[in-house]
Amino acid sequence: MFQPKTIIEPFRVKVVEPLPQHPRSVRAEALKDARFNIFAVPAEKVTIDLMTDSGTSAMSQEQWAAVMRGDESYAGARSFFSFKKTVQDLTGMGHIIPVHQGRAAEKILFSIMGGEGKVIPANTHFDTTRANVEFSGAEALDFVIEEGLDPSIEHPFKGNVDIQKLTAWLEKNHERVPLMVLTVTNNSGGGQPVSLENIRQTREVLQRWDIPLFLDSARFAENAWFIKMREEGQAGRTPREIAQEMFRLCDGAMMSAKKDGFGNIGGFLAINHDEIAGECRNLLILTEGFPTYGGLAGRDLEALAVGLEEVLDEHYLDYRISSTAYVWHHLDRLGVPLLRPAGGHAVYLDGRAFLSHLDPAELPGQAVSIALFLEGGIRVCEIGTVMFGSTREDGLQNASPMDLVRLAIPRRVYTQSHMDYVVEAVAYVFDKRKELGGLRIVEESSALRHFTCAFEPIGWDPLKA
Ligand SMILES: *Cc1c(COP(=O)(O)O)cnc(C)c1O
Repeated sequence: MFQPKTIIEPFRVKVVEPLPQHPRSVRAEALKDARFNIFAVPAEKVTIDLMTDSGTSAMSQEQWAAVMRGDESYAGARSFFSFKKTVQDLTGMGHIIPVHQGRAAEKILFSIMGGEGKVIPANTHFDTTRANVEFSGAEALDFVIEEGLDPSIEHPFKGNVDIQKLTAWLEKNHERVPLMVLTVTNNSGGGQPVSLENIRQTREVLQRWDIPLFLDSARFAENAWFIKMREEGQAGRTPREIAQEMFRLCDGAMMSAKKDGFGNIGGFLAINHDEIAGECRNLLILTEGFPTYGGLAGRDLEALAVGLEEVLDEHYLDYRISSTAYVWHHLDRLGVPLLRPAGGHAVYLDGRAFLSHLDPAELPGQAVSIALFLEGGIRVCEIGTVMFGSTREDGLQNASPMDLVRLAIPRRVYTQSHMDYVVEAVAYVFDKRKELGGLRIVEESSALRHFTCAFEPIGWDPLKA
């Protein structure tokens, strides 16, 4: 029997979008105008956009057909009920509240459950989650296992919570904890999964003090696939069964459906608590819209209902996780320092090891990022000191624990030859890494500074060819 080694894209192409290709000089001009912040570079100047896998998925023919079925009634639209049914099947939660994207769910939840004096533990908070926790006046604390903080260590579930550390901390601080968050997969920690066993153990610990557990479930399907592949006793289950169990071990979930929902916009808040859900709905009406559309059009809700089913297809998940690993293995073979092992939605370069001649305060992750754009037209995202560090009073930087450079792979968008091009471009920049210098931040906002800050090279000219 023919047993192919090649894992093929489980789709063929029906609509094409041209890919911008420009000379380096055009990109140098764009980067200068953007003051070296690639968030400020127009997408038209980018050839392969790996900045994020958020909202960048290609929708399927079934999703586009569902768009046509969208019911745009203000209240009680048919589209809400198909969305609700899908999300309820998946999560088992009593209350399903649509929101326009993940951070809207965070804002609503933490406005109600956060606040001054509270502490929200997590494996690792994602950047918008942390920002919304802190904006409410509460503190965001991470309890990811130690292996999760070292890019060079191999571990099957690097997103896991350090149960001992969490327990010891809760014994002293549980009164200040209104809920805990588990991010699956752990985006800021390298797209690394959390095991079912670890979700169970986390829940058990929290139950001692009746603390609810919320899943930050943007990549629940990718996490379920890793569980199927790596966790003992799980190989025979479907990704859907595993995902359903993940959600059922929790009391609530926030979801950015711009990731594993295959949506270009959308999200939800799912809650198993009548009173909290009621308060969330009241706030939703104030900020997002009526509870049956929550800031989305009926057609968005329809497309998400289809996407949330499609994402659990085994052929898709096999292709998805394998194609990320494909990029990872090629770069690893070239000796490029990487966060190990490959993540689900992204490959993370270890920017600090990549530019080991720079100090973390010189923003090595940012330096790698601008080099990839300049040389290859590849746009990536720094997840390090720019994103999570801060400027001290003396003007120096508080460095973050890691300086990662994330190559996030949009779902169903790029082909294998695009990825071969990416590997080639990273290899080129890696070969000339000694020529790269550092950067400093010359302008920044008080929250989520990485989106808008401006940089200046320190004593070198990155634009020079
Ligand atoms: C993207 C993301 C969010 C925020 O969602 P948005 O839709 O971008 O607002 C929250 N948590 C995680 C883990 C994410 O990946």
